[in-house]
Amino acid sequence: MAENTYLIRGAAILGGEAQDLLIHDGVIAARGTDLSEEGATVIDGKGLVALPGMVDVHTHLREPGREDAETVETGTRAAALGGFTAVHAMANSNPVADTAGVVEQVHSLGRASGWVDVRPVGAVTVGLAGEQLAELGAMADSRAQVRMFSDDGMCVHDPVLMRRALEYVKAFDGVVAQHAQEPRLTAGAQMNEGTVSAVLGLTGWPAVAEESIIARDVLLTQHVGSRLHVCHVSTAGSVEIVRWAKARGINVTAEVTPHHLLLTDELVRSYDPVYKVNPPLRTDADVQALREGLADGTIDVIGTDHAPHPSEHKECEWAQAAMGMTGLETALSVVQETMIETGLMTWADFARVTSFTPAAIGRVADQGRPLEVGEPANVILVDPAARWTVDPHKMATMGRNSPFKGRELPGSVVATFFKGHPTVLDGRLNTPYKHPAVSSN
Ligand SMILES: [Zn+2]
Repeated sequence: MAENTYLIRGAAILGGEAQDLLIHDGVIAARGTDLSEEGATVIDGKGLVALPGMVDVHTHLREPGREDAETVETGTRAAALGGFTAVHAMANSNPVADTAGVVEQVHSLGRASGWVDVRPVGAVTVGLAGEQLAELGAMADSRAQVRMFSDDGMCVHDPVLMRRALEYVKAFDGVVAQHAQEPRLTAGAQMNEGTVSAVLGLTGWPAVAEESIIARDVLLTQHVGSRLHVCHVSTAGSVEIVRWAKARGINVTAEVTPHHLLLTDELVRSYDPVYKVNPPLRTDADVQALREGLADGTIDVIGTDHAPHPSEHKECEWAQAAMGMTGLETALSVVQETMIETGLMTWADFARVTSFTPAAIGRVADQGRPLEVGEPANVILVDPAARWTVDPHKMATMGRNSPFKGRELPGSVVATFFKGHPTVLDGRLNTPYKHPAVSSN
């Protein structure tokens, strides 16, 4: 019995009252005080916070095709260490995830790895080219059961195609996740358009290029009565537009990345390409508006936009460097620092924006569930008092491009339970979960 029975003794449930959690056969079998430890492996939860496993709506796992940057195996190891039990794998792989075959391949790789649930995101348009709708229905009906569709990395900028995509996904309760970037307004952009770009003489990426697409898309969403998710909102104006849309009852959700909650374009003065990302780091006023928007529910979720790159694509001149940052193994700590230690959110709020709502947006079964008896045991234990210094070379991701390198951050993931199995124990990888064989009858 002990092999799959764990008793977490006295952890603060969602940061509240300390209670015991008994995990048995993949579910939370009991919750209370002074639970019997007979037959169980006991884990001391004193001083720790128990939270539902985090669900990322925005992860780049790079496989198939860019295994020099990341694989499903390495990316999901990073996810487990970061406290995630599910990730949505973005479609900009090579080949692009625009057919049932590719999304099923990514789904199978995720199951074989066994560290987290991998939910493939399907491309909206063939090859992310923005010209022709991909086979959305076939991907939805596939074994991968795709519900989120995105050309992330590229914007679905043609309003007719965006309208058709929003109409199409209604048939299977899907959502279109838009990378909001008006392409002509951002041609050649290297960083945020503002004071710093003027000083450095780098081509700017203006806030209006994001805000104009979000404004158009919430109106299209209202017009067709569909569901829209806005990826990585990065400007104060975008927060205002989403707030306005929600007040009108438009079915829109929005995400913010940890890096946009902490870092600003002042860092670009260093010309260190680790700070090159899309959308770009913005200003301190934007950071403040994003934090307030997340705290008041205008922004629904954290999305890491974990984007690993091989070193040769990041350790080069600014103009040539690839855009993107890793994020899976630092997300919890950055959100703790920016939202919890500032008093803007509680751990219960943290569970909402990193687990409950992201699972609901992606329609992920058995994830983002409350820590109650009978629920699937996707549970993490966090030590909020821990402090650690980020060293990209000690991370599980293959990407060394962490913008938090050398920075001291609070909070660490002590344990991750995925389907009742400890994938992480004592802050280190344990063993993956073994999915039962699919029965053939
Ligand atoms: Zn994007």
